[in-house]
Amino acid sequence: MKPPPFGYHAPGTLDEALGVLAAVPGGKVLAGGQSLVPLLNMRLAAPSDLVDINRVGELDTLRVTAGGVRAGALARHARVERSAAAAAVQPLLGRALRHVAHPAIRNRGTVVGSLAHADPAAELPAVLAVLRGTVEAASARGRRTIAAAEFFRGPLEPALEPGELAVSAFFPAAPPRTGTAFAETARRHGDYALSGVAAVVTLDEDLRVAAARTGHLGIAPVPVVFDLTGAAGPGGDWAAAAAHVRERIDPESDIHAGAGYRRHLTGVLTERALNAAASEALRKAGE
Ligand SMILES: Cc1cc2nc3c(=O)[nH]c(=O)nc-3n(C[C@H](O)[C@H](O)[C@H](O)COP(=O)(O)OP(=O)(O)OC[C@H]3O[C@@H](n4cnc5c(N)ncnc54)[C@H](O)[C@@H]3O)c2cc1C
Repeated sequence: MKPPPFGYHAPGTLDEALGVLAAVPGGKVLAGGQSLVPLLNMRLAAPSDLVDINRVGELDTLRVTAGGVRAGALARHARVERSAAAAAVQPLLGRALRHVAHPAIRNRGTVVGSLAHADPAAELPAVLAVLRGTVEAASARGRRTIAAAEFFRGPLEPALEPGELAVSAFFPAAPPRTGTAFAETARRHGDYALSGVAAVVTLDEDLRVAAARTGHLGIAPVPVVFDLTGAAGPGGDWAAAAAHVRERIDPESDIHAGAGYRRHLTGVLTERALNAAASEALRKAGE
């Protein structure tokens, strides 16, 4: 199928892009196009205008500091996935990105585009949520920082106002003695997951559990985060933590999997990811 007609704009600077977005209230940002173009072709979206940001060089950034990883709006999945610097500061990002679609799509799709798309089955929203990251949004009116907990309002519904462009996303660094893990099950590798989980475990100096959190995809309209520090206890009872999650989720049935299967699967993946994250935390504590 072909997309409905739209006006096309290709600004060369961020200021120009924000100016166009302010002038076309029915406009949509076009980044990697890996989600938007299929939606247009299937006529599930019909924006009046597309604002193609691919020529805005100042958005093509990946900044890694001791505090975390900041991906600019044109940082492609593949660039972030392959960045050794990003992996050293926050390994969860690369671990999750390996599950996003296929290499050809990762060469074009962007990290920020995936967050702005806000698909509840996508990996990166759950990663941003469990890490308590942020999205920086800009419009002709100014800039603001949106916490992950407020960013995902519903399926395909990010907390971006008309005229706003997400300029970057920030993924905080892993604190000392912290391990992370990502686990998901999809019918085929690269497909959207039936259920997925990102786990973060931090140990204290006596190797007791100081913090344990999971971020889940595919089980609710938005990413779901659990603080499991209490459920796991200081010794790290990951089976109890997984049971805590299993009892509190309410996944839906669809053509891919029934609700009962998704609930069971989420419990299994949660225990597995927490175990792996805790092992890594222990290893790091010994370094
Ligand atoms: C076959 C296939 C399989 C896939 N499998 C997966 C998968 O398993 N997991 C997964 O997570 N993703 C998957 N994807 C989607 C892929 O990850 C996309 O790259 C990503 O969802 C969107 O990034 P994009 O840069 O292509 O955004 P686009 O398609 O350009 O845009 C997506 C949406 O976000 C908005 N947007 C984009 N950038 C911005 C911005 N900077 N500011 C404001 N709004 C913006 C657009 O207006 C649009 O509404 C798959 C895609 C395909 C085609």
